Amino acid sequence: LSNTHSFKHHESTSAAVNSSEPSSEKYEYQAEVSRLMDLIVHSLYSNKEVFLRELISNASDALDKLRYLSVTDTGLLKDAVELDIRIQTDKDNGIITLIDSGIGMTRQELVDCLGTIAQSGTAKFFQALKERKEAGADSNLIGQFGVGFYSAFLVSDKVVVSTKSPKSPTQYVWEGEANANSYTIREESDPNKLIPRGTRITLYLKHDDKNFAHPERIERLIKNYSQFVSFPIYIWQEKG
Ligand code: ADP
Ligand code: MG
Repeated sequence: LSNTHSFKHHESTSAAVNSSEPSSEKYEYQAEVSRLMDLIVHSLYSNKEVFLRELISNASDALDKLRYLSVTDTGLLKDAVELDIRIQTDKDNGIITLIDSGIGMTRQELVDCLGTIAQSGTAKFFQALKERKEAGADSNLIGQFGVGFYSAFLVSDKVVVSTKSPKSPTQYVWEGEANANSYTIREESDPNKLIPRGTRITLYLKHDDKNFAHPERIERLIKNYSQFVSFPIYIWQEKG
């Protein structure tokens, strides 16, 4: 990843009270991520529903990390929210929101985790991809290795991650779109979206995938793919 895209301070601009647009900074994905995104968006991979398993597994990891770190740093639990995962479906608008009260991410962690490929699973995916000669076999690899967070783009046109780490006083928003080679990061400006701790992921589903935004569908996927998650998962439906 080129250094020009690393963390830059933007405190002065974002403090401008009257600006209607919160200051937002654009970052390019590492080349491998762009390639992966391209594959995900254009592949014919049919088992799209794995996106939920991946996002729940990340939420569970984030809750585990918080619980583990809080053994030696009890201050981490000072925002006395439960350790849980909440999934909200809005079927009228085709939106799914996942909220966990886990460890969250700082701005730098957003860049490191959601802009580069540092994860073992995705690294293996690329190794396998390089070894493939024939085009077209790519989409099978998605299922074989899992593509983690980026699998959200199997079903989403746009993904928004709003996250609050106990290490940072500020909640940050990462926003990425399918078919783009860059993403943005800004401070959370919507008071309704502030969380004491953890991560809120909003999926704006593709036209043909909006039917995932049904509580019954989500419940079935959780039973099939995420039954061993050790934190409570609540599902609720947005009233139209
Ligand atoms: P992996 O889970 O194999 O590390 P992912 O692509 O699924 O790979 O996730 C990438 C990274 O993004 C994670 O390792 C974690 O650091 C960060 N991340 C993703 N989702 C969350 C979340 N809900 N809370 C905190 N960190 C997260
Ligand atoms: Mg993961």
